[in-house]
This record gives sequence, structure tokens and C-alpha cells, in this order.
Amino acid sequence: MPLTDRILMGPGPSNPYPEATLALGQPMLGHLDPEFLHILDETCDRLRTVWQTTNPLTLPLSGTGSAGMEAAFVNTVQPGDPVVIAVNGLFGERMVDVASRCGAAVIRVDTTWGQPIDPEEVLSAHARPKLIAAVHAETSTGVRNDVAALAAGKGDALLLADCVTSLGGIPVDIDGWGVDLAYSGTQKCIGVAPGLSPFTMGPRAIERRVPRPRSWYLDLGMLAEYASTSGARKYHHTAPIAMILSLHAGLGALLDEGLAAAWARHAECGRLLQDGLEELGLQLFAASGHRLPELTTVCVPDGADDAAVRRRLLEDYGIEIGGGVGAFAGKVWRIGCMGHTARVRNVTLVLAALEEVLAR
Ligand SMILES: *Cc1c(COP(=O)(O)O)cnc(C)c1O
Repeated sequence: MPLTDRILMGPGPSNPYPEATLALGQPMLGHLDPEFLHILDETCDRLRTVWQTTNPLTLPLSGTGSAGMEAAFVNTVQPGDPVVIAVNGLFGERMVDVASRCGAAVIRVDTTWGQPIDPEEVLSAHARPKLIAAVHAETSTGVRNDVAALAAGKGDALLLADCVTSLGGIPVDIDGWGVDLAYSGTQKCIGVAPGLSPFTMGPRAIERRVPRPRSWYLDLGMLAEYASTSGARKYHHTAPIAMILSLHAGLGALLDEGLAAAWARHAECGRLLQDGLEELGLQLFAASGHRLPELTTVCVPDGADDAAVRRRLLEDYGIEIGGGVGAFAGKVWRIGCMGHTARVRNVTLVLAALEEVLAR
């Protein structure tokens, strides 16, 4: 089966929007070419729309979603700062690792994988944290965490949200909720190849940012001058031009469809997939009422060979699904419906293919 037929239904990357793929073939521009700078500015504007924010410091960082995570911590946390981190999956664990490397005094609030975090418990874990951090959409478990409740109760702390698997797929309202800083990735619900990290930082976070962060490359003070539209733009590093052209086009496709329509499309695909899996007699893993539409976790049924089933789906049907991670490796499958992949026809295909493979 030709590789062009692959349907990417793992935890990411998803299939990019066709507009984003086509944009990769555009002629190369110089990184200071006014045409490119115009596209960069427009990309930042489109990101503001998608993040639902007016934050001037909104830009695509050069690097994948993890670069956004690193940028968020190195620019806000200094040694000894109390940082509360909600952990109910792999990406919460990773935040703990990154914050610890910045010297933070990490207070981790653990919840069983598959369950949502308890906002009250997270908010009462420390009297005066500098930062509270949580993952909005836990890609390792398929659980949605209540970032809005954390933002509403954050008090004087800064609130950081990992929106790598939520932005573009489910509502994210940076200004409406009061999130101080957030990062995402391009290859999940945004529907673009991996390589950039959409990032946004509000005035409270800028006011308290670390003046000389230990990372030169991810210093948001310098990056803000580079992304500035005021004419005072200062060279920092060569932008990944082709990736930004692709993100610009992908965001264009997303906004042409409309954010609300894209959320509704993800919601419908998630519902059809989850209902269909239950009709096949399979058991969903994430707690009912807190399931992400864009990433469904389902228990590997007794007697099925995890790796063999995923290999058959890939080789016979060209469909990629993901395996479990951590303690759930071999125990759950993770089926993504993100970005351009979130189409009813893909849901129908994966359900039929899974039924056929499981019946062998
Ligand atoms: C994928 C993912 C990341 C890491 O992003 P990369 O682009 O792989 O660096 C971080 N957080 C969450 C929730 C993710 O799903």
C-alpha cells in the first residue's frame, strides 16, 4: 500500500490539512524578506484568533511542542520557586522533569491515570505558588482536565496550560479563562506537520518573567523583539520559513472552516468512534464525562495481541493507531482523530478495520 494512503490515527502526528502540505512546496523566501515577514505577522494574528487571546506575545516557537514546554518553564521559574504541577499522565510527568531541571521546588499533585485532575486539590496544594501548571488534554490517557477551573482559582499564581493536543480540536479560551501562558504543537489538532510550537504569554507572566533565562534560544524577551511588528524587529535566529508558510496555510484552512465548526467536527468524530468501540464490545479507558474527542483510549481486549493488531491495521489498511505508554503499554490503544484526520469516513474505516482484524 503506498505511503500516501496512510491514515494517521495515532496520538500524533495527524494527517495535515492539504493546504498545509501544499504550502511546503512554495518557493523559499529569505527570513527578512518583507513578503515572509508579512506572512509571519499574519501567522501570529491567526494564532491569536485560535488561542482566543489579544496577547501581543503570541508566536510559533522554532521547535516541537516540547520546546514550548521548556520555554514556558525556563522563562518563568527560578531556583527555589514553588511550582504546583497536576500529574495524571505522561505529559504531566514531563512537566515535573522540566520544572525540576529549572530548580523549581515542585509540588506535584498526582491523580490516577485515566481520571481527571481535581482542581480544588491542585489549587490547595500550596499557599503561594509562583506557578500552577496542568495539561489540558492528556494525550497519554485521553482525559480532558479542567483548565478553566484552575485559572478561575489561581489567585496570585501564574497559570500555565499545555494545549498541545487541545488547540484547534476543543475550545481553548486563553483570555476568557485567564490562562497566563500556554503552548501547543502543530502536528495534533492544528493539522500541520511537526516542527513548531504555537506559544502565548500574557502581561502578568511577562511582568514576572525570568530576566536572563538559562536558555538563550528560548529566551522569550529576545524572541518577543524578533516577533515584534513595531518596526523594532531584531534578528534572533533564522525562522524555519517552510514550516511557518505551512502553519500559515493550515491555520488559514482551520479559520476558513471556523473554530466552532472544527470543534464540532472533532466532537462528532470522537462520539462516533467511542460509541462504535463500545458497540464492538470494547471498554473505553478514560473516565466517562472527561473523554477527549480527539484522542480516544480503549482497553486492549483479553486475548488480543496488541502489537500484532496494530501491525495488521497498518500493513493491511494503512491505518496507524497508537499503543499505550507507561504502565499502560500493551494494555490500551490510543486512537487519534485530530486536525484533517477528524473525518467521519476515517472513523468508519478504523472501526470496520478493527472489527475485521480482531475477528481473525
Ligand atoms: C505531543 C505532546 C507534547 C510534546 O510535543 P512534541 O511536539 O512531541 O514535542 C507535549 N504535551 C502533550 C500533551 C502532547 O500531546
